Amino acid sequence: MTVSELSALSVRQLHARRRRLAARLSDLEGTLRGVLLSKGRRCSSEGCRCRRGELHGPYTYLAIYAGGRSRTIYVSSAVRAAAAEHVEVTRRNEELLAEISQINLELLRRRALE
Ligand SMILES: [Zn+2]
Repeated sequence: MTVSELSALSVRQLHARRRRLAARLSDLEGTLRGVLLSKGRRCSSEGCRCRRGELHGPYTYLAIYAGGRSRTIYVSSAVRAAAAEHVEVTRRNEELLAEISQINLELLRRRALE
């Protein structure tokens, strides 16, 4: 819902929407921020085909941004599906939290945030 759509709702409606959004948050313990990437990789052996551009892989990595810097972490195929699920649940929860924050901002503007 856009900011102007939110501003058209009553305080009672904002509270109801906020409650519905919060009820849809799920598996907070599984929160895993980041993006899964698939990348090819060069090895250390000199004469290998990867030196001619035929990279090994692709391998899966989790790109994360934390503490002001970004890095990537290798994700083994054994945990790839689980990691993808955690990342997806987290993405959905972040969307819900972003809208809850917009609602609270609107309530703050109206001096109705309690
Ligand atoms: Zn190689």
